[in-house]
Amino acid sequence: GATSPAASATGATPLLREIFGFDGFRPGQEEIVDAVTAGENVLAIMPTGGGKSLCFQLPALLREGITVVISPLIALMRDQVRALQEVGVTAGALTSGNTDEETEAVWQSIEEGRLKLLYMAPERLASGAAMGMLRRIGVSLIAVDEAHCVSQWGHDFRPDYLRIGELRRALDVPLAAFTATADQETREEIVEKLFDGEAPRSFLRGFDRPNIHLAFATKDSPRRQILEFAAARKGQSGIVYCGTRAKTEALAAGLREAGHAACYYHGGMDAEDRRGVETRFAREDGLIVVATVAFGMGIDKPDIRWVAHADLPKSIEAYYQEIGRGGRDGAPAETLTLFGPEDIRLRRSQIDEGLAPAERRGADHARLNALLGLAEALKCRRQTLLAYFGEAAEPCGNCDLCDQPVDVFDGTTAVRKALSAILRTNETYGSGHLIDILVGNITDRVRDKRHDDLSVFACGKEYGKRQWQAVFRQMMGHDLVRPDPERHGALRMTEAALPVLRGEQDIALRRDTISSAKRSPAVKA
Ligand code: ADP
Ligand code: ZN
Repeated sequence: GATSPAASATGATPLLREIFGFDGFRPGQEEIVDAVTAGENVLAIMPTGGGKSLCFQLPALLREGITVVISPLIALMRDQVRALQEVGVTAGALTSGNTDEETEAVWQSIEEGRLKLLYMAPERLASGAAMGMLRRIGVSLIAVDEAHCVSQWGHDFRPDYLRIGELRRALDVPLAAFTATADQETREEIVEKLFDGEAPRSFLRGFDRPNIHLAFATKDSPRRQILEFAAARKGQSGIVYCGTRAKTEALAAGLREAGHAACYYHGGMDAEDRRGVETRFAREDGLIVVATVAFGMGIDKPDIRWVAHADLPKSIEAYYQEIGRGGRDGAPAETLTLFGPEDIRLRRSQIDEGLAPAERRGADHARLNALLGLAEALKCRRQTLLAYFGEAAEPCGNCDLCDQPVDVFDGTTAVRKALSAILRTNETYGSGHLIDILVGNITDRVRDKRHDDLSVFACGKEYGKRQWQAVFRQMMGHDLVRPDPERHGALRMTEAALPVLRGEQDIALRRDTISSAKRSPAVKA
């Protein structure tokens, strides 16, 4: 396309990971980052929480010179400056809240040519001195947050915002304006006041990719599940994402045995082999690439008809980005994401054992929870997905849950039993032993610990092992319990479990996962 995806493949995506610690772009971000980096005038309308700050921070790092960020919210500017400084980006703010030392530090970094982002309150633009200063210091981009403040008819009108147009003319640099207010009149006013009526490149598109069919399934035999999914789509181009390199190789071999054209792709291959796969995939019809997340950056094949995840992705953003590689041509594309308790454990421990600071780890858990919530969703997946990105939607008619609504039942009693088993054993065991207690299995460990004396022993005979596993998995999905990585995955309750234990909150469980597990013979928990 016109905004070459290669631009972000080479520049933006590595920075996205290294500096900001994100796995992927959120909907819409990549296109905006590309356009702003390329120096286009941009007006982007994004819902609150959609991640607009990244859309000027990342281009600021990729462009020469200083990016001036105009924002009316001093506290927010200070937060952003602090967050950027923490990850090693030279940023500063000139606001009325500054101490003299802070202002001095900003000036010094400008003089040393180190400053990348300069946040300013609009009031500053009222002084001729500030305008003169901005002319001298090598500004190469103006970013305007809360751009609707320029609208005289809106609630948030800031007269000083009217000076931004003047600043743009004086500096003659590109301007990127951001707002969450989408109505037509406000947009027109922004274009008139900030861009002198010359239409900027506008990003208004919602996040939805309606042609992509969404589906999740619990993982019981992933190899068979993926082979079946591929068999039903023989001859179509598809991607299978796997959690490990070894799996990509094994699954590609399995697909070839089943008569598909398939190859694998992962970061452990040398660059030439990887390029070979990329080229084949771009040119050939009906090739399946079985890959780790290393595959995807810069892939611009429009007619990928399906994307499957043999393992649960890392976060809801990663999921959205990976399935988003399907159906770029607008024709129907299908997806299938497999998930099981092992995935949840693995992803949690990756977060806990990672080197990220505690704050970021908390956010990573929350993003994983959002994905698990989507996996265990009880109504339209697209509604659930879009709600996470701040967009309201009607039931879509193009997801597994719209195709076949799930049957839910009140699982409060079962969940309470499981929680009591955890409590009575002091949060020291994983689901295997807890299930032995619930179903009344006298194992060596049960005998050793005298857990057969507990009041919860054998209180869950109505279900078998597989069914209890499904209950525990859904409890993890609801974030009622989390495995403790320091105690071999012992399940611990979260705050969210308390209201359930106290009888203040009910929990709905999916009947299908419970009843499909019913007749299977005893399987190792
Ligand atoms: P707003 O659009 O409301 O200004 P922010 O830029 O503050 O939103 O971003 C909202 C939240 O989303 C922040 O916590 C930010 O860290 C997070 N976020 C932004 N982009 C991404 C991404 N690509 N992946 C994961 N989280 C992101
Ligand atoms: Zn739906």
